[in-house]
This record gives sequence, C-alpha cells and structure tokens, in this order.
Amino acid sequence: MSTTELSPFSAPEIRQTGILIGDEFRPSVSGKTFSTVNPATEDVICEVAEGDAADVDLAVRAARMAFESGPWSRMDARDRGRLLNRLADLLEKNFDELAALETLDNGKPISDSRAADLPLVIDCFRYYAGWADKIHGNTIPIRGDYFCYTRREPIGVCGQIIPWNFPMLMVAWKWGPALATGNTIVMKPAEQTPLTCLRMAELALEAGFPPGVINVVPGYGPTAGAALVRHPQVDKIAFTGEGLTAKIIMRDAAETLKRLTFELGGKSPNIVFADADLDAAVAGAEFGLFFNQGQCCCAGSRLFVEDSVHDEFVERMIARIRDRRVGNPFDQDTRQGPQVDQAQFDRILRYIDRGRAQGAECVAGGRRVGDRGYFVEPTVFTDVTDEMDIAREEIFGPVMSILKFSDLNEVSRRANNTAYGLAAAVWTRDVSKAHVLSRDLRAGTVWVNCYDVFDAAAPFGGFKMSGIGRELGEAGLANYTELKTVTMALNSR
Ligand code: NDP
Repeated sequence: MSTTELSPFSAPEIRQTGILIGDEFRPSVSGKTFSTVNPATEDVICEVAEGDAADVDLAVRAARMAFESGPWSRMDARDRGRLLNRLADLLEKNFDELAALETLDNGKPISDSRAADLPLVIDCFRYYAGWADKIHGNTIPIRGDYFCYTRREPIGVCGQIIPWNFPMLMVAWKWGPALATGNTIVMKPAEQTPLTCLRMAELALEAGFPPGVINVVPGYGPTAGAALVRHPQVDKIAFTGEGLTAKIIMRDAAETLKRLTFELGGKSPNIVFADADLDAAVAGAEFGLFFNQGQCCCAGSRLFVEDSVHDEFVERMIARIRDRRVGNPFDQDTRQGPQVDQAQFDRILRYIDRGRAQGAECVAGGRRVGDRGYFVEPTVFTDVTDEMDIAREEIFGPVMSILKFSDLNEVSRRANNTAYGLAAAVWTRDVSKAHVLSRDLRAGTVWVNCYDVFDAAAPFGGFKMSGIGRELGEAGLANYTELKTVTMALNSR
C-alpha cells in the first residue's frame, strides 16, 4: 500500500484560502494563517487564513447588512430557490474537483466522496430549493372580530459551526435550510477541513448569491468559533460536533440568548436478532460502523448480537474485515482512508488500549497501518460489557464493539442505558419486534434492516445529549424561522 503516491486525479487546484467577507476572499486581520494537512501523507496542503474575533466581527457586519438591506432582503422566495438550484448545478459541474478536494483535505476514500458525499450535498440543496416558496403561515380563527394569521420569517444572521467528518455535507445541511428561509450566514468550518467549504462559497458567489449572504471564517473553535457565539449581532448558532463543545457554546450564548440547535455525538445501538438475514446484518453492521473511517456521529458503535448467532456473526464479520482495503484514499478500490488528524488517530489508539486493558478481546485489527498517515486497522472487539469505556464513549474511529444479549426487553433496556440518543438499528424478520423496538428505543432515528440511510427529506437529530432540534426535511426549516402572529381588528359591524 502506498499512501504517498497519489493518482493524477488527486491534485485539485486550491483556489481559495482566504476569509470570505461580502464578496471578497481576504487575509485575516491579524495576518495569521494555519496549515491544513493531508491526513494520508501528513504533508501540509496549504496555509489558510486564520480568522479570529476581528474577522468574525467584519463577517457578521457583512451578514447583518445583507440581511437588513440590499437584494437578499427584498428577494422573492422563488428566486432564493433558483439560486439554491444554481448552486447545485455548479456543484455538479465541478463534481470531480470537489470530490478530490474533499478526499485530499479529509482523507475519505474518493469512491465515498463521489458516491456518497457529493450526491447527498447536491440533493440537499435541490431539496431546500424546492422549499423556498412553500414556507407558509396559517390563518387562525381567534375569538372576536379579528383577522389573525402567522408568518414564518427568517431569524437573521446565523452563525454555523461545523466539524470535519463530512465537511461538504455539513455545509449543505446548514446552508440549505438557512438560505431557503432567507437568513444570512457566517460559517466557521473545522480547522482540519476548510478547503471544500471555501470552494463552495466561491461557487455560491458565482451562482449569484448577493455579497454578505454567505461569509466564511476559517479558524479555531476557541477563538473564531467562540467570537461568533458571543457576537451580539448573531441571532442563532447551529452547531455540529462534540457534546462538551456544545456545553461551552450554550454557556457562551446565554449572555445574548441566542437560538441554538445542536447535532452532537452518539453511541448508537445496532441490534441483531437471531432471526435476521445474517448476511445483510453483517454487511449492514460493517457499513454502519466502518463507513467514513468510523467518523460518524451515528456510527453503530454498540453492536448487540443475540447470543445464539453471536459466534457465527463474529466469524463472518472478521472474514469481511480481512477484505477491507485500507490505504491511499485516491485509489478507487480503497474502502478505508486515514483518520482526519493526529489527535483523532492518537485518541482511537488509546481507546483500543483501554479496550484490551478492561478485558475485551481484540479479534481483528488493533494497530496502526504503515508508518505515515493516520491509518488505523479496522478493529473488532468481542466480550465487550456495558461498563467498558469502548461501550460507553464515542470513539469516532474504526473500532467495533460487539456485545451479547439474550432477549428483547434486556436489549431494549441496555440499548437505552446511555446519555446519547442519536440513532439505533434493528435487524430482524419479525415485524412485531421491529415495531416494538422502533417505539421503545430513545433515539432520533431508527433504521430497520438497514443502516445509515440518509435523505434530505428525512429529519435527523438526537434525543437526550445527542442534540437539540432536527436537521433535514421540513423539520429542518423550523431551525431557521421565527413565527410571527399578526392580529388585525376588523371593523365590519
Ligand atoms: P469539536 O466539537 O471540538 O469541533 C466541532 C466544531 O466546533 C469545529 O469547527 C471546532 O473548531 C468548533 N469549536 C471548538 N470549540 C469551540 C468553541 N469553544 N466555540 C465555538 N466553536 C468551537 O469536535 P472535534 O473536532 O474536537 O472532535 C472531537 C470529538 O467530537 C470527536 O472525536 C467526536 O467524538 C466528536 N465529533 C462529533 C461530530 C458529530 O458529527 N456529531 C463531528 C466531529 C466530532 P476547531 O476546528 O478549532 O476544532
């Protein structure tokens, strides 16, 4: 396996590395930059402008102005939809370049960038383009001689803070509903993966979004991110990332009482009953955990397998894992690329050590791959018990924990015994079991006989400490609108 020889396909032009304020990509006020690194080679790709409070302030002012005056504030809803569709067209036109840029900056296999990330991104923009002119209020028959109706209005300037695991897709999930509803945006991409967000912002300008509607400030969370959260002219923060960061954001946002929506982590139970189609369950469990190098908030990281099929399931899983090709993400046959950075790589290896130390058996993988790049072997632990760290904490890496169970009530109770509640899955041929667990599992999404099925039309988000609010679907629009009630006296008598 070579992680250093990249195919010609792998050399996208780096067009934008500045801070986007209004319609201009510029250096940071401080003149500082930070490096973004290719996780497959550990080489620096380029330097990117490092925004902080001063840049955030300029970006917020630009967003405020675009919200309050200028073409965006007066634009017909249908024209907002047209701009979103035009952006989707430009993403399609630049598909190869964007897929390669995502793989370069994040490390995900090019086949995933092309088959999963980009199609979902484009679909999300088109889906929300369709909503732009369908955001209605109601008329309400209140008591007395009045005409009462509601309007759904944009919230204003939205600060959007996103992580590195699906850089383009997180942009789409945040921009799509915010723009369809007429808000303006200041986005802070993750410091590990700023490049595709900046390129998408350039394409948004080309599509015709007026200056100031979308602003992008790359930089670090505690500086640029925190400045956005504290800024008095920002009306709302939408955040995806870790729960601990969400707590800091909630505290920082308290002073200005901002609207907050959070999409956070999980420790999602994936439950395989003995009566399931075992081939499908093994394949689904592999995908549900190892997709995107295990860096998914909804990864099926607590895999409960009914005891009567446990050993056969483990055997089949190990056989599948052996075929999992880890390596150069630009190789079309690669299934697993590197982890996103050194910190994530170290953290995953620490969890693997803790799994062993706490008595779980490592039956596949468990080590680094090669000596360059942040590659980790697909790893499977058996004999995992509920109290072990690898069964309780979000690892965010290619580490599968298999737990045994013997009946429905037991597994339902154990599956819910977590502070998280993002997703869950059930594999069974018994419709009744599937319905009972779909009802009883405390999670924002339940997949039955499938995993990681995403669609722009289907809401996604967490119960409990996995989040606040829902993204995608019609529900995603609620995050970006204020409801106004208008009551008018009628002098008809
Ligand atoms: P973070 O929550 O720290 O990062 C997410 C985003 O928040 C980044 O843009 C980050 O900036 C920003 N941020 C960090 N601190 C602040 C702050 N004080 N105020 C405002 N914004 C801030 O996650 P990490 O990237 O550190 O990943 C750590 C763990 O989080 C992972 O191992 C995983 O468990 C979980 N995670 C969950 C994700 C999900 O989809 N639910 C996605 C990514 C991670 P910066 O770029 O500087 O970090």
